[in-house]
Amino acid sequence: MSTRPAITVKPKGVGRLRAGHPWVYRSDVEGSAPAGLVRLADERGQGLGTALWSPHSEIRVRWLAPDGETVDAGWWRAKVAAAAARRTGIADTGHRVVHAEGDGLPSLVVDRFGDVVVAQLHTAGLEAERERVLAAIRDVLAPTGLLLRNDAPVRERERLPRETAIAFGAVPERAPYTEGQIVLEAAPWSGQKTGAFLDQRENHLLLGRLARGRCLDAFCYHGGFALQLAAGGATAVTAVDSSADALRVLEAVAARNALTGIRPVEANAFDWLRAAAEGRERYDVIVVDPPAFARDKASVRRALGGYKELNLRAMQLLSAGGHLFTASCSYHVHRGEFFAMLSDAAADSGRSLQLEAILGAASDHPELLSVPETGYLKAALLRAVD
Ligand code: SAH
Repeated sequence: MSTRPAITVKPKGVGRLRAGHPWVYRSDVEGSAPAGLVRLADERGQGLGTALWSPHSEIRVRWLAPDGETVDAGWWRAKVAAAAARRTGIADTGHRVVHAEGDGLPSLVVDRFGDVVVAQLHTAGLEAERERVLAAIRDVLAPTGLLLRNDAPVRERERLPRETAIAFGAVPERAPYTEGQIVLEAAPWSGQKTGAFLDQRENHLLLGRLARGRCLDAFCYHGGFALQLAAGGATAVTAVDSSADALRVLEAVAARNALTGIRPVEANAFDWLRAAAEGRERYDVIVVDPPAFARDKASVRRALGGYKELNLRAMQLLSAGGHLFTASCSYHVHRGEFFAMLSDAAADSGRSLQLEAILGAASDHPELLSVPETGYLKAALLRAVD
């Protein structure tokens, strides 16, 4: 019999759990416990399994395992191993190994960059399991170094310190990894997310296959798209970002891969796209991959205005038959709103556009159908008819 604290889940919370969502909110539980593992039961005392407990978060409970499974070091190892096994066949050495709730491991992110691994433990409940989680990563993935990028703002809501620290081994400032034929460089210590945008991995490769003529990568960061476009046979690639640091990495990576023909431009992409459209420039392949404009529900309308402006300009810049890959990583902007925005932009652009593909995050960032929060990246591949 487990000695773990017991938490009672009210009927509303039980309903959520039964529907396959692992979160139970503060108002749907009774009882309290220190951060860590708890046993869940319904109001009649019927067991509901084991969960992570976050004493300060609105999301108090994150369900882990049914009754009958003991959550111990071996359990964590088996779960991480199962997630890694689902990535078998991914040749790219940069990829996500654990996508939190999407892999049944709530609030845990594990990204591999070649020989090193970067992990994020986002909640107090998970933090209490830290030693077992880190041991599982070490045993299953055997990296030469594990960096904890536990600096995300969400940790404040959990009353956890924000820190970037080595768990074991060594992790360099620039960690090389492959996507297709390109050797990229993650910035595990200081870069965005865990050091790179792995969620666009498959879309980077898709754009490499579409590359031709004059290409444009707006919001390029380290050039995940621009490099594949250049390697794929573009005659010229313009790569726009407002971050000089990001562009410096792009230039270093281009040199490392002996790719010429990428022109980095430090600019506000809104201004740059407007000026280019007014100058009647034309591009055969355009990528628009901005940061999340909507941080919460209240900012969705404004965000949609921003997305529309960008896409309208990009559409105007397409050559006849040209491709536009466009994305939004704002969780709060839902798929329907994103596609309605694209329709609006197309109508205003005066161009006729085909929807060639509806796209999203790479398959190593699995979206669990019962947990919409695991999906955030929406994208479309459009083609100008004339
Ligand atoms: N396309 C990249 C990821 C882009 S992340 C990839 O696939 O790897 C978003 C990028 O937008 C960041 O590099 C950030 O520096 C840049 N950015 C944010 N606001 C910007 C603006 N107004 N103009 C240009 N770049 C901007």
